[in-house]
Amino acid sequence: MAYTHNLGFPRIGKRRELKFAVESYWAGDINQAELHNRAAAIRQENWALQAQAGVDLLPVGDFAWYDHVLSTTLLLNAIPKRHQSDNSNPLDTLFRIGRGRAPSGCACAASEMTKWFNTNYHYIVPELHAGQEFSLGYSELFAHVEEAKALGHNVKPVLVGPVTYLYLAKCDGEEFDKLTLLPSLLAVYGQALNKLKALGVEWVQIDEPILTLELPEGYLQALTQSFTHLSKHQVKLLLATYFDEVNQYLENIQSFAVDGVHFDVVSNNADLSALDEVVGQERVLSLGIVNGRNVWRTDLEAVYERIQALNEKRGDTLWLAPSCSLLHSPVDLEQEQQLDDELKSWLAFAAQKCAELGLVKEALAQQSNIALVEYSKAVKHRAQSTRVNNADVQARVKSLTANDGKRHSKFAQRIALQQQALNLPLLPTTTIGSFPQTQDIRQTRRDFKAGCISNAEYEQVMQEQIQFAVEQQEALDIDVLVHGEAERNDMVEYFGELLEGFAFTQFGWVQSYGSRCVKPPIIWGDVSRSQPMTVRWTQYAQSLTDKYMKGMLTGPVTILFWSFVRDDLDKPSIANQIALALRDEVVDLQNAGIKVIQIDEPAFREGMPLKQSQWQAYLDWAAYAFRVSASGVEDATQIHTHMCYSEFNDIIGAIADMDADVITIETSRSNMELLSAFEHFDYPNDIGPGVYDIHTPNIPDVSWMKALIHKAAQKIPARRLWVNPDCGLKTRGWEETKEALNNMVIATKELRKELS
Ligand code: GLN
Ligand code: ZN
Repeated sequence: MAYTHNLGFPRIGKRRELKFAVESYWAGDINQAELHNRAAAIRQENWALQAQAGVDLLPVGDFAWYDHVLSTTLLLNAIPKRHQSDNSNPLDTLFRIGRGRAPSGCACAASEMTKWFNTNYHYIVPELHAGQEFSLGYSELFAHVEEAKALGHNVKPVLVGPVTYLYLAKCDGEEFDKLTLLPSLLAVYGQALNKLKALGVEWVQIDEPILTLELPEGYLQALTQSFTHLSKHQVKLLLATYFDEVNQYLENIQSFAVDGVHFDVVSNNADLSALDEVVGQERVLSLGIVNGRNVWRTDLEAVYERIQALNEKRGDTLWLAPSCSLLHSPVDLEQEQQLDDELKSWLAFAAQKCAELGLVKEALAQQSNIALVEYSKAVKHRAQSTRVNNADVQARVKSLTANDGKRHSKFAQRIALQQQALNLPLLPTTTIGSFPQTQDIRQTRRDFKAGCISNAEYEQVMQEQIQFAVEQQEALDIDVLVHGEAERNDMVEYFGELLEGFAFTQFGWVQSYGSRCVKPPIIWGDVSRSQPMTVRWTQYAQSLTDKYMKGMLTGPVTILFWSFVRDDLDKPSIANQIALALRDEVVDLQNAGIKVIQIDEPAFREGMPLKQSQWQAYLDWAAYAFRVSASGVEDATQIHTHMCYSEFNDIIGAIADMDADVITIETSRSNMELLSAFEHFDYPNDIGPGVYDIHTPNIPDVSWMKALIHKAAQKIPARRLWVNPDCGLKTRGWEETKEALNNMVIATKELRKELS
């Protein structure tokens, strides 16, 4: 009979208990013993929940204080030198690597973090040097195995695979071939397996998600070597791959010395009979049949049909699981009190996804899909719902043509008209949109949301804030002003709340990094705009000044990727729906007299597919959606975009393809290194490379910013350069903001003299 297991469960707790526990510990409010108690309670609840839902084999090792890659770094004793202080408390060492400080031990720069494959989860990047030694270090994995067993659970430890670990690591110091470290690494993994074996563990899950990438030379060979080595340790190995299909490597996978393989069969239409053959009758075939990283109820009736024959053929050697760890999905739908019943019936969070596995297992055992048909009714109902489908929106997207993604004229003509209209000086100055979100602003928004203050009172406070921001910018003599975004809590949530087709949860948190969680909106239906969203605020701001006020919007690609998106429509179509709603907003802004409009796309790079061969197709539709949002206006209206945290070198062509009149980007942290992309690529439009880092409170020097702009002017003609900070200022205070911007304006004015 088919068997159910899970690849990982969210570690944060139903109400983000882990976040509050570690933050209390960091603040010195609770001690380590209390911290451990609270975490153990979360684990206990998670295991119980999964077991009750019908999961046979529970994951252990999915818990992490900060990040599971960082836990692996401690397990392997690969602690960066600067974090190896005399401090003997390993948990504090872990926190120091993750965030630069901990209750004990010295402060020192945290390790870098970066996105885990194509998710919004960030891992701490291991730092390895040539000749790095590994040894069995600090790990709570073994204790957790005992903990789960003591609670009567049947467990399967989960490890980040050694080759994925090496792949994700960066070279500390000079570049070297990381794969040379594999033998030493495998020796330590072997020791860990021995310890698990001694604890009575039968199966160990080895995660090698790099198999979904297009791997550089040497990595497949390394995987073969790895499994050959690990298979000598007398525990059964389940290789887990997820986030995409692995079709190109099926032959390799067939030859790996493992006892079972897990495939994600929801990300892409995988061919189950091919997978069945690759794994063979003797080994376990694990199918990820429930999407582990979205929020939708699964059509279990369809799943049953898809796997029924395989189940009959394989029995015990067919395992069922979510496609990937449930780390990427919210914890429990049951807690949501504010979603209507219909919408709720379309959803499934981590707890419900486990229950789905239990239901399928039951149905297969009874050879009857009756319960599944009943369960899947809501999914079918959703597909037909008039609430989801908006014929006008669908028709409008359908009728989109290449022309809708084009401005009337080419950039050279547009910029001439814009210069005529705007008459800006050389090196115009601007900011990225938000100004400090003071306590006052946040409190007012909260009060308004809670119904404690009236609409009129709310508007008045926000208008005062806008007025204050405008006065500051005028006093600083900035050229293109912004209203400051006081009315926005979050750049996606703000628009999601005003657009049709979005829903918001109360507790739908997902870990983003460390103790930080995000609560993405859910795009459940066709997206449309029922009324202007930003026009009144922007118009009010413009009425206060003779300078140009920049309208401020979040772009279609960013709204898409920072939400949970519907699974019944392709991403390009969803992006185009959002783009059309934004296009109307852009035109309305223009018609209200706004001459400069910025459409932010900080998530543009994030949507890149795992396989490089698919990048171009993505970049094409993403850039098109952006252009649809931007192209409804006259040539004389100037469109800006903004991106941050992006590496541009490999996508600079696509960025040019967005055809924004001006792009502002993050460059200051890398000392304009990023501009090297412009050496080989002649970026055609205007650009504002950020001249100071808004992520620190430090005030940038005039001379330092001048040097940066000089550096930029070597690559890009000065007449095409703008001067601005590298991101929005909402996390900063007003005092430091004024000082920094003042220096920025002084630097610019001195340069104007020198350059003209
Ligand atoms: N306009 C936004 C702001 O200034 C942009 C934020 C971002 O790039 N992440 O806050
Ligand atoms: Zn930014």
